[in-house]
Amino acid sequence: MLQRIKILDTTLRDGAQTPGCNLKSVEKVQIAKALDKLGVDIIEAGFPSSGTSEFNSVQAVCQSVENATICVLTRAVKEDIDIAAKSLVYAKNGCIQTGIGTSDYHINYKFKTDREALLKRAVDIVRYAVETYPYNVAFYCEDAGRTDNDFLARIVTAVIDAGAKSVTIPDTVGYCLPNEYGAKFKYLIENVPNIDKAILSAHCHNDLGLATANAIQAIINGARQVDVTLCGVGERAGNTPLEQLQTIIAKRWSNEYFTNIDSNLIYETCRTSARIMNLQLPADKPVIGYNVFAHASGIHQDGLLKHPANYEFLHPQDIGAESSQIVLSALSGRSALKYRLELITDSKIDADRLELIYNEFLKIAATKPVIDDNDLLMLSQRFPTKAVTEYSNEQQTADYIGLDFMKVTAGVGVRCKAFVKLRIGNERVIARSYGNGPVDAAIKAIKKRIGSTMLIHEFLIQAIDKGSDDMCRVNIQVKYNDKFYYGFAGNTDIVAASVLAFIDAVNKFSK
Ligand code: MN
Repeated sequence: MLQRIKILDTTLRDGAQTPGCNLKSVEKVQIAKALDKLGVDIIEAGFPSSGTSEFNSVQAVCQSVENATICVLTRAVKEDIDIAAKSLVYAKNGCIQTGIGTSDYHINYKFKTDREALLKRAVDIVRYAVETYPYNVAFYCEDAGRTDNDFLARIVTAVIDAGAKSVTIPDTVGYCLPNEYGAKFKYLIENVPNIDKAILSAHCHNDLGLATANAIQAIINGARQVDVTLCGVGERAGNTPLEQLQTIIAKRWSNEYFTNIDSNLIYETCRTSARIMNLQLPADKPVIGYNVFAHASGIHQDGLLKHPANYEFLHPQDIGAESSQIVLSALSGRSALKYRLELITDSKIDADRLELIYNEFLKIAATKPVIDDNDLLMLSQRFPTKAVTEYSNEQQTADYIGLDFMKVTAGVGVRCKAFVKLRIGNERVIARSYGNGPVDAAIKAIKKRIGSTMLIHEFLIQAIDKGSDDMCRVNIQVKYNDKFYYGFAGNTDIVAASVLAFIDAVNKFSK
């Protein structure tokens, strides 16, 4: 008989812990709506006790999601449960996910207690949540990957008795090998007497590149829910990618398992969300990378021509990668722009905002004949809706440093130099510098004026699509006073994008 696998997406919680991923409330709503449309069963919307802005964005997500259950994370403390319940008031279906570290590492060094006391604390908190609030209660055994199976079975039994409807077995530190992780689920299915009253969920981390392999072993051994994220974002090396798990289930396991995910929306959802999260997706990214359907080698191309099945098993249409993309050009009017923007951002564009975006659109269209969805998303992010501030009290203050003008000389056989006009606070200043390239020259010129000591730690430039006239995006990581700050920018000029990304990062610590 076909078995249903539930999908819990934690892009907005675990995924939001990706370094540099600082999602605004309105962006979380956008991703949540896309996840809902995609068909995920449960959206983990955040950790509401971590602060007002997180709490507010959980509420905003609850108000905009129609089908999926909204789940929120808590620690095993009553105050967290109370805040979680409050954050869920607008959810059609809410779930409180509480839990505690169950490995000896956590028991001895984090909680400085013993197994019996910890077990009691777990049971008490589940009972409190179940008895006080009308929401489903889920329980996670943090660091279950390094918890011995015997104790894990005891705690799972106890929290199910206390009313937990699902229990997550996270490999929090990405330690487990697939056979070990699978054996854990097998052990629990065989040794938890009340296992028929709850489902087990897998939550895997990719530190050893095994997050997907571990999730698969969990399913084979009895997990009926898997925690995933779009593009595998998440703490450290990330989580099991939704697109990988879904494609495995749909393409290899269609006789045994199914989910509620609409595979046709995978490509679009991943690409759009990656853009919102400022992720650079490598071309060799499984399932959704540009190279997945590119056949470069001569032997492969010859084989493909004889019969596609020779070298292709995964087809672009399996994940909706061939859906017709409407492209706009300099000739497109405001209504076409508005229509496409509203479709891809799933939000209404008011007249003022449309005007701002349209003017910028014309500037780009003058240098780039075809404007695709990626360019439009970048534009819509540059002119965010007023709802950003309404939803979450996130102040839209003007950047402290702005670039008014820049001229660089670059080339082969010339000495690179840059001239910049900057706005720093209310002051207008100019600066010049030489450098070993145009970006270096411009950044050196800016540094002369802002006088800070900072180090560019990581610097990624990626073309969004194809062609030398394409938009590029730049992700930059700047280290200042032992802290990391992230900057992003998109432009058809890679020097401008690089310098703007640098300024974006610097603005995050300059006031
Ligand atoms: Mn995690």
